[in-house]
Amino acid sequence: MKTYKTTGRGRKQCPSCSAIIGVRAHECECGYSFRTPRAKKKTKAETQPAEETKINFVVTTPAGRCPVALSSTDLEDVRAWTEKLKKAVAKQRMRYTIDAYKYSVRSVYSVHSKEYTQVAKHIDAILATDEKPDVGPTGCPE
Ligand SMILES: [Zn+2]
Repeated sequence: MKTYKTTGRGRKQCPSCSAIIGVRAHECECGYSFRTPRAKKKTKAETQPAEETKINFVVTTPAGRCPVALSSTDLEDVRAWTEKLKKAVAKQRMRYTIDAYKYSVRSVYSVHSKEYTQVAKHIDAILATDEKPDVGPTGCPE
């Protein structure tokens, strides 16, 4: 294979061994292939999913104060609260279980209170459907 001392018209430099070769060569004498699409390795970081979608921790008993305040025992308020809380913990790469949501309620309502029971019931109704897909179809009578 012909190599050159300097770059110039009709020549290119091998990124692997720095040899200067003819622009039409598909492969350098060192074995570097110019045919490989995307020879420059760089795009890996760009194709990774957004940080928020990567969940590293499943939390059953949250530590510290609940980051989102629950305003009432109303079903729609509880639903809005679970949505906000879900997003807040996802930013920290966490996911709350149903128990974790209920645990967070205890900072607002006593575990023995009527309000707590009501909110816990709402949480079950709201989140039960969220967690079901993990289980998959079972007990199909066929
Ligand atoms: Zn080379």
